[in-house]
Amino acid sequence: MTKKQSELQNERFRLIFEHSPISIWEEDFSCFIELRNQLKEQGVVNYQKHLNQNPRIAAKAFQDVKICDVNRAALRLYGAKSKKELIERFGQTLTKEDVKVFIEQFVALVGGEKIFEVEFATKGSNGKRYDLWLRVAVPNEYEETLSRVVVTIEDITERKKKENYLKRIAQEDSLTGLLNHKMITKRVDEELNRCRRYNTPMACLMVDIDYFKPINDNFGHQIGDRMLKQIAGFLNKLLRNTDLLGRYGGDEFLIILTGTEQSGAFVVAERIRETIASKQFKLNNKSSIKSTLSIGTTSYPSNHAKTTKEFIHLADKALYQAKADGRNCVRSV
Ligand code: GH3
Ligand code: MG
Repeated sequence: MTKKQSELQNERFRLIFEHSPISIWEEDFSCFIELRNQLKEQGVVNYQKHLNQNPRIAAKAFQDVKICDVNRAALRLYGAKSKKELIERFGQTLTKEDVKVFIEQFVALVGGEKIFEVEFATKGSNGKRYDLWLRVAVPNEYEETLSRVVVTIEDITERKKKENYLKRIAQEDSLTGLLNHKMITKRVDEELNRCRRYNTPMACLMVDIDYFKPINDNFGHQIGDRMLKQIAGFLNKLLRNTDLLGRYGGDEFLIILTGTEQSGAFVVAERIRETIASKQFKLNNKSSIKSTLSIGTTSYPSNHAKTTKEFIHLADKALYQAKADGRNCVRSV
């Protein structure tokens, strides 16, 4: 290759590096090898555990990482005006999460991994939270020394927001914001498994609004929705943080009381029933009405249900009994 050709090629690589939309960092991780040798000498076997217990050692090593070069996207990502500013500033304000990621990275790379990737959240210099996707690649030539590694960092804050939103709406009932049918059923299953394993009690309350259909028929579906939301809100307020509440369907709610036996569940159900019966629910700006609930309760281990389906079915059976006994009451099986 002639000198001219070589210059042209260098120029091409420089253009690709500088104008990549992804932030690229050329870094020197020799300090990883130094830290590994130091830990070895001290007889440390489990690096991850040792560094997690001594985060200061990790934070110090983090500051010893040398940034050789960064591209323009890296400056944009960190809001720096120049490469010099970014290099000087980097690693000065480390969050706990930064150190945790650094430790994971250290363990992977000194363990011989050539690619390391992780998603993590960090705080920008403006105090704003960012979600980042970090990838580290070790070129073959630098496997032993780690004196050159290529790091890319992408801002995935918007993508994470969308992901979290989708996750939330997949689990949430859109009207009340409570767990939806699928999720609350899943939680009953998980709780039951936990109770079987640790031999602890749990109870379920199946709650159904009495004569709800006439509210829709007389005042319209929108008013019905408003009423459902209000009742969901009251139920939420009446429970402990550890209890779980979901909209099982229509005007039916399912409540999981963790660590609660049948007698306790009955007391909670009675309190809910009485409180709702004493409230006035707003229909519109002018008028409000009263409403009542029927509640069925069942509990583990006293009900001998073998499956989650059977367990929920028993709560439903108790609810059916409450309806048959005239509504606005609690029945247990
Ligand atoms: P019961 O005392 O036996 O419970 O009688 P009910 O009138 O409450 O009737 P039931 O529980 O069998 O039926 C629930 C009714 O709830 C049926 C439907 O009109 C209404 N409903 C179900 N989902 C919604 C909803 O999302 N919004 C509104 N506004 N109404 C709903
Ligand atoms: Mg009903």
